Amino acid sequence: MKRIEVIKRLLKEKLELKGGNLTEQRVAVFDYLSQVENHPTAEEVFLAVKRKMPKISLATVYKNLEALVECGLISKLAHGDGAARYDIRTDQHYHTHCLKCGKILDMDIEDDLLAGLSIPEDFVATGYRLELLGHCSNCK
Ligand SMILES: [Zn+2]
Ligand SMILES: [Zn+2]
Repeated sequence: MKRIEVIKRLLKEKLELKGGNLTEQRVAVFDYLSQVENHPTAEEVFLAVKRKMPKISLATVYKNLEALVECGLISKLAHGDGAARYDIRTDQHYHTHCLKCGKILDMDIEDDLLAGLSIPEDFVATGYRLELLGHCSNCK
């Protein structure tokens, strides 16, 4: 089965569970996200998808991204500075963030960092966000 067919099947299944529809635009947005590793903004997704679908608007791309987030197919990184970024991964993982070019890349951590923290007794920690700040290979 072709890659795009696999993506379509997966999207259709997940979207239908949440009452959403499979559209060519959603497929294009998801397909683009699954090919890049820099966690693009809605605008960057728009510019890339526009090459294949010249009539698509930024607002449509944004709506489709949000629908995919709602269905749990992608995740949204809204913390940090500037525009929200979108991530094809929905599992717990962490990021490196280049302070010069803004590129965000995945980083995995083996241990549970919570175990090493002295958390205030009256605070119930349910998770954490971690962003390693610095310079990427292009910017150092
Ligand atoms: Zn950089
Ligand atoms: Zn990520």
